Amino acid sequence: MSTNNTTTSAYTDFHLQFIAGEWQTGKDDSSNTNTNPYNGDTLVEIQQATKDQLNEAYDAASQTQEAWAKQTPATRAAVLYKVVNILDQRQEEIVDWLIKESGSTRIKAMVEFSATRAITLEAATFPNRVHGEIRPSNTPGKENFIYREPIGVVAVISPWNFPLHLTQRSIAPALALGNAVVLKPASDTPVTGGLLLAKVFEEAGLPKGLLNVVVGSGSEIGDAIVEHKAPSLVSFTGSTSVGKHIGELANGGEYIKQVALELGGNSPFVVLKDADIEQAVKAAAFGKFLHQGQICIAINRVIVEDEIYDDFVERFLAHVKTLNVGDPNKQDTAVGPIINEKQVKSLKEKIAKAQEEGAKMILSGEIQGQVVPPHIFTEVTREMDLSRNEVFGPLVGIIRAKDEDDALSIANDSMYGLSSAVFTADMQKGLRFARGIRAGMTHINDISVNDESNTPFGGEKNSGIGRFNGEWVLEEFTRTHWISMQNEPREYPF
Ligand code: NAD
Repeated sequence: MSTNNTTTSAYTDFHLQFIAGEWQTGKDDSSNTNTNPYNGDTLVEIQQATKDQLNEAYDAASQTQEAWAKQTPATRAAVLYKVVNILDQRQEEIVDWLIKESGSTRIKAMVEFSATRAITLEAATFPNRVHGEIRPSNTPGKENFIYREPIGVVAVISPWNFPLHLTQRSIAPALALGNAVVLKPASDTPVTGGLLLAKVFEEAGLPKGLLNVVVGSGSEIGDAIVEHKAPSLVSFTGSTSVGKHIGELANGGEYIKQVALELGGNSPFVVLKDADIEQAVKAAAFGKFLHQGQICIAINRVIVEDEIYDDFVERFLAHVKTLNVGDPNKQDTAVGPIINEKQVKSLKEKIAKAQEEGAKMILSGEIQGQVVPPHIFTEVTREMDLSRNEVFGPLVGIIRAKDEDDALSIANDSMYGLSSAVFTADMQKGLRFARGIRAGMTHINDISVNDESNTPFGGEKNSGIGRFNGEWVLEEFTRTHWISMQNEPREYPF
């Protein structure tokens, strides 16, 4: 499937930004020092963009979008297929960037690469899948046509945890469907969250101006990217607190715009008493510790039925102790570094708070640099901080449930509703339990960490609004236009 082309020379000049089809130097006084979270090496220093440069990006997007929308579906699809080819040719280069910039382990970088490739391939089918409708009318002589059109200019704001994939799952569908994009990647991952993809789309022949990557500080361009007149849709992926702010800006300012908000999670992972405990243990470890737990759909609460609680804890502890922790570049490392010092500090506080609140810490380890080893807490209750809030790190609390009903009540006791999982030997019970969970996604006998390019990804409650992937994102990134045609003179009452 994927091949490595050794003759392709690696992309360079990531100190520049991609605005209006040109690689420009940022004109702000401030700069972004992009570092490797494992060893602190400086990867690139990027002079940040000013508001004027953001305006330039929006002007370019607005000016080029209509011509792009008029291109044939085959032309737009061809660019996306070319992007897939380039991703394949540059797989090693991209995986290397994911490891050094976002602290991805090799395993996680490959998971992310595959997801990015899959959504690009899916998006390549969108130009030919978009369709309208003809609806009957109750007015004599009228025909109703429902057109589905590009939404126009899309603002994309993406996070640092799965930067390549979570950026691509917005920009690939947006571009495939005839839109133009202005993207602001997260400050920790300007390359994998944006500039690298700009290089790929440029190489694939995407016309200039349609994709703009603006690297800037929150204070200079954060609000401005949302408040600008040009975007009709803001596609935001990130924390619930920033998402709420984006939602307010998008709907409370001078220009009303649609928002797609993919926010935080607090995924429950429920193990019922008839479950295959060994399988549940392996799943819990992978679903919790992949990317050091820094995934919106990572397992945040392990909830185990009383009868098997002790057995599960003992086997989980034994398994987690075998995980390799440290250098993300090593093939067999399971747990690599945390993205930045601020996040490490927040995890240290969570460890202290869990102990203060009475949770029993049965596994810990020395924090070295930004590498935080797995921490396991037992006798955790639903009221504790570990259960109530998104951990976003390699710490896990295991909650004891009295029975199945209690497990469901605990699982639903959260302001979030993104992903979830339940383990049981009885599929009917599993389905009943899954349908009782108020979340956008539930996986029976698997982890909460699942994302497929043809199934709806998204959350409820404080986890957001909207769905990615398949026909769901196809609707999200287009607008509906009802056009009626009155074929014979209509009789009006006056
Ligand atoms: P964050 O909310 O801090 O940042 C997300 C993005 O918003 C970044 O690009 C950041 O620079 C930008 N931003 C911050 N303030 C802004 C402002 N005022 N105006 C405009 N942009 C602004 O989130 P993060 O720390 O990058 O990511 C972690 C969070 O994201 C977690 O809560 C996680 O659950 C969530 N997340 C959700 C999903 C999902 O699909 N639901 C996926 C990944 C991450």
